[in-house]
Amino acid sequence: MARYTDASCKLCRREGQKLFLKGERCYSNKCAIARRPYAPGQHGAQKKKLSGYGLQLREKQKAKRFYGILESQFRKYFEMANRKKGITGEILLQLLESRLDNVVYRMGFATTRAEARQLVTHAHFVVNGKKVNIPSYLVKVGDEIAVSEKGRKSPRFKEILDITGSKVVPKWLEVDQENLKGKVVALPEREDIDLNVQETLIVELYSK
Ligand code: SF4
Repeated sequence: MARYTDASCKLCRREGQKLFLKGERCYSNKCAIARRPYAPGQHGAQKKKLSGYGLQLREKQKAKRFYGILESQFRKYFEMANRKKGITGEILLQLLESRLDNVVYRMGFATTRAEARQLVTHAHFVVNGKKVNIPSYLVKVGDEIAVSEKGRKSPRFKEILDITGSKVVPKWLEVDQENLKGKVVALPEREDIDLNVQETLIVELYSK
C-alpha cells in the first residue's frame, strides 16, 4: 500500500499546526513548527489566501494526516459517518478516534500513531482476549484492549510507558498501566478530541 515516506514534520508545517507525528520530539524545542513556522518549499514562507475549496481541502488533509490515513480509507469513514444518524462531521471524528491504532496511542501504549499501527500489525494487542492485528479495527464501548502475551515479552513497552506515563488519557478510556491494559468506557465526544479541525468543512468538501 502506498505510504507517505517524506519527513513527517513537513506535514505539520504544511498544515500550519502540530499534528504530533513524532512523539517526544513534538514536545521539545526541536519541533520543526516552532523553528520554521511556515509551509515547506521554496515559496513556503509566502502568505497565500486560500479559496473556499482550498480551506476545505486543508481541513481534510489535516485530519487525514493526524490519523495517518490514506485518501480512499478516509473517504470510506466519511461515507460510514454520512449513513449514520447525527452530526456527520462529529461522527466522522468519532470513527477515526475509535480505530484500534488510535486507541492504543491514546492509552499511552505507543508514542505515536505510526508506532501504534506497527505494534498492532505485529500482534502485540488483544481485544477482549482475542488477537487483533488490524489497525483500522473499530473498538466499541466495553471493549478491553490489552498487550498480548507476545507483546509482554518485549522490553519496548517499558520504554514506551516511561515516555507516555504522565500523558493525560481521555475520559472515554480507562487505563491500567501496570497490567498493560485498558477499557473503552464511552464513545468520544467532540470536546474529547484534541484535533484542531473544522470538520464541517470536510463534510462540505465530500458533499459536493
Ligand atoms: Fe509536527 Fe513538531 Fe512533531 Fe515534527 S516535531 S511531527 S513538526 S509536532
